[in-house]
Amino acid sequence: YFISFEGLDGAGKTTQMELLAGWLERRGMEYIRTCEPGGTPLGVEIRRLLFHQPELTITPLAEAFLFQADRAQHFQTRILPALAAGKVVLSDRCFDSSIAYQGAAQGLGTDLIAQLSRIATQGHAPDLTIFLDLDPALVHKRTSTSHNGRQEQSRFDRASEQFHTRLRQAFLALAQAEPQRIKVIDAAQPVERIHQHIVELIDPRLNQ
Ligand code: C5P
Ligand code: MG
Repeated sequence: YFISFEGLDGAGKTTQMELLAGWLERRGMEYIRTCEPGGTPLGVEIRRLLFHQPELTITPLAEAFLFQADRAQHFQTRILPALAAGKVVLSDRCFDSSIAYQGAAQGLGTDLIAQLSRIATQGHAPDLTIFLDLDPALVHKRTSTSHNGRQEQSRFDRASEQFHTRLRQAFLALAQAEPQRIKVIDAAQPVERIHQHIVELIDPRLNQ
């Protein structure tokens, strides 16, 4: 069973993945925790190119392909083998992020990015996607007060509230198009309440 977490920076994806991992562990379920970009050794290198080389010029299209290269490696070597072994896969972001960031917010077009994503994933998709919906006005507030490696956002520091509003609209449109797969959860709620909501979504699906 494959679950992805999506949301703007600071929405609480990492926290909720940790809580869900603990819940799966207590139930004795096998799972892996992973992320995009950076879920494989190649992905770590791609992540370094994307976020730790501020002097490097990367065009929007080249950037989109770097995210897709990360994804191709991730699906082939990590996600698909774990699913084949019957494990639950928890991924911090997946192709919905590419559609929202590179497709909508950066303006490459959501259809193009969806098409590239289908190639990179070999047609696979999460069974369930949790979109933690954060008010774009809170992105800067949340990310500037957290201490968990936020230096990686340097590439997107210029991102305005308008950019985040476009992103949010893109995620909501994806959720509207695929309401069975993508569930929207208000990220302003207390952490524990969000976790309960996620468990209520996942528990019946895992028992199917
Ligand atoms: O979620 P994570 O912290 O790993 O993302 C790192 C940065 O890359 C964030 O600023 C996120 O907004 C951005 N990103 C992106 N396109 C993606 C995935 C992440 O621009 N497809
Ligand atoms: Mg994060």
